Amino acid sequence: MSVSTISLAVSLLRAGRLVGIPTETVYGLAADATNSAAVRRIFAAKGRPGTNPLIVHVPDAAVARRYAANWPEAASRLAEAFWPGPLTIILPKAPAIVSEVTAGLGTVGLRVPAHALTLELLREFDGPLAAPSANRSTRISPTTARHVRDELGDAVDLILDGGACTIGIESTVLDLCGDRPRILRPGGLSQAEIEQIVGPVEYGFAHTDASRPAASPGQQLVHYAPTTPAFRFLSTQKPGMLAHAGAAGGAAAVLALTSVELPGGRLVQMPVDPLAYARTLYHTLRELDSADLRAIYVELPPDEPQWMAVHDRLRRATVLLPAE
Ligand code: AMP
Ligand code: MG
Repeated sequence: MSVSTISLAVSLLRAGRLVGIPTETVYGLAADATNSAAVRRIFAAKGRPGTNPLIVHVPDAAVARRYAANWPEAASRLAEAFWPGPLTIILPKAPAIVSEVTAGLGTVGLRVPAHALTLELLREFDGPLAAPSANRSTRISPTTARHVRDELGDAVDLILDGGACTIGIESTVLDLCGDRPRILRPGGLSQAEIEQIVGPVEYGFAHTDASRPAASPGQQLVHYAPTTPAFRFLSTQKPGMLAHAGAAGGAAAVLALTSVELPGGRLVQMPVDPLAYARTLYHTLRELDSADLRAIYVELPPDEPQWMAVHDRLRRATVLLPAE
């Protein structure tokens, strides 16, 4: 990326405009986190409810400290271990972060993304950038610059093309405001990795497995979702899935983990490694979503901790195939 493109991005951001940025997780839609009007543009472009706070991106832990009203020792240790990387830390916020960013909360989510281009941008900009995923609200997160353009069109003033995202799923959100660290959203960094640094963590989200319907309506929140009807199914539900897909004629796709004999339609064999699966999930869903299908079926991975982030996304992107 030429120096002049970064300079252009910086001037746009200083003028309160929106820039699409690459990160290792997914592409972000960035604006100056100290400028209310700029931040409101993010919500407008995404159609995002103002009640859903944004993550603030900074170039390193030293800068992160400026935007937190206090900085516990656990934050230092986590930053040392995992930044730059897919971990967002929630802390009491400093006044410089405008209330639109945090949806009026007294806390802020801070993260240092692991992408050379965006780190360069953050250093040049020399301020905090609020950046949610660069998709329309509730839709599939973008993992290439092209996806951002397809999603947001002219609503984004410039997109920095940093190639395909290497992690492909959002950051893990960890709340450090309570007595014990709490995972609010599972993501690119695993619970086990976090626990190695800060000991046992709690959960602030329902981590019931994806093979059951959500226990309460709040957890059925549609998110990361294709517009094509999408169903998740257990490996034991294969016959039911095939019958269901049969009704769609050839216009169905299956994202399989084990072997599936699909008479018609599109069979996508997904990686059996959770990290490789996460890297390709959104890209695959997006491609299938534009393929004029009547249904997409996703075989659920095993109910194991290393699949927690993928389960979380699948639970919100799909509905559970009804039992026969
Ligand atoms: P996205 O920007 O689309 O990756 O989503 C950001 C995620 O971080 C959402 O799940 C937010 O609810 C969460 N988040 C951001 N800031 C805060 C905060 N101050 N407190 C709790 N959650 C937050
Ligand atoms: Mg998002």
